[in-house]
Amino acid sequence: MTFGWALGVYAQETPSAPQAKQGASDSAATETFKATKHPFWDGTNAWLFAGVGVSRTLDYFSTLNMRARGRQEILLSNDIVDNHAAFAAIEAAGTGVSIGASYLFHRTGHHKLERWTSTTHISVTTMGSVRNYCLKTAHAAPPATP
Ligand SMILES: [Zn+2]
Repeated sequence: MTFGWALGVYAQETPSAPQAKQGASDSAATETFKATKHPFWDGTNAWLFAGVGVSRTLDYFSTLNMRARGRQEILLSNDIVDNHAAFAAIEAAGTGVSIGASYLFHRTGHHKLERWTSTTHISVTTMGSVRNYCLKTAHAAPPATP
């Protein structure tokens, strides 16, 4: 540790590229070491898990909106989505599985993957919800009355 710290200080004093790189990776390692020292239910994870829950809720309502406009569900079946209780349970399970995966990554020391699980989940789900709302309504336009 002292050796790495000394290297870091030395790298800041000399402009030579390889040693500066060594100093950078040393400070990155220190950051990683700090990052491992966090409880699973810290503020960041609480916000990320809340975000996953919100994005799954958004997916729930955007999918029902899409179905109400006559579009076909592609990931699940129309029957599952049209059973609102079952679909809500699936959305809740999706949130649970995501938190579970984060917990496994946390326990195995993969704290970046732990955060990325939620970040990716939120991104993909939110984009899917936006897509659901952007899909054209499948109903034929009502005939114009003369
Ligand atoms: Zn962690």
